[in-house]
Amino acid sequence: MLTKASITQSIVEVHLRIDQAVARSKRDPSTIRLLAVSKNQPVSSLEEAYQTGQRAFAENRVQEWLEKAPSLPNDCEWHLVGSLQTNKVKYLDQNVALIHSLDRLSLLETLNAQGERHNRIWRTLVQVNIAGDPAKAGLKPEEAPDFLDSVGDYPYVRVEGFMTIGALGVGTEETKGFFRELRGLRDTLKSRKWPGVDLRELSMGMSQDFELAIEEGATLIRVGRRIFGERG
Ligand SMILES: *Cc1c(COP(=O)(O)O)cnc(C)c1O
Repeated sequence: MLTKASITQSIVEVHLRIDQAVARSKRDPSTIRLLAVSKNQPVSSLEEAYQTGQRAFAENRVQEWLEKAPSLPNDCEWHLVGSLQTNKVKYLDQNVALIHSLDRLSLLETLNAQGERHNRIWRTLVQVNIAGDPAKAGLKPEEAPDFLDSVGDYPYVRVEGFMTIGALGVGTEETKGFFRELRGLRDTLKSRKWPGVDLRELSMGMSQDFELAIEEGATLIRVGRRIFGERG
């Protein structure tokens, strides 16, 4: 956990590195958003990030999010990353901006049922296991088209893109290759007109590889430790 001053400084540094990666890749900076992954961090750390101007936060456990969110001002935007158990869906409300981990039909069904009950449409990303890591969740890339075929049957769920987690302990080129593959999948499938699907977002890149992800087309980067320090 970092002190207040160092959280502010870390955010400034991350923005600098984002700007440099944006310049290298000649992208429009407005197409990239930084999500501060605040899991396992105390409310005081989120407040410090908020003071610095950070508004978009990502949590990975519903319970923790429910406990922390009410302490932050209500113009915060909350993203859910990490595997989402179907029995937690009933706790979700309109304060969830985007769910990054839609990875199975049962979750699609449960979200849809909850959405219908509360007359609310969920915005989601389909998680893809590009690296083929058996320890990670996510569809295989080749399963994505069939999955997107089903989305139209669930009108209370929209898919706005893909999310992936890079692999640990691999080199720069391999990491870039994974990100490029996710973008390629998106580009290939973007022209298909599935109801409820608009593949505009690519959520990829974390503390160790967000610059590579920007160079490969990320629109949402999820940075935790580089902002907040090691998790408690
Ligand atoms: C924890 C987590 C992150 C942030 O990881 P850092 O290495 O702390 O930047 C990003 N995405 C997901 C899905 C996570 O679980």
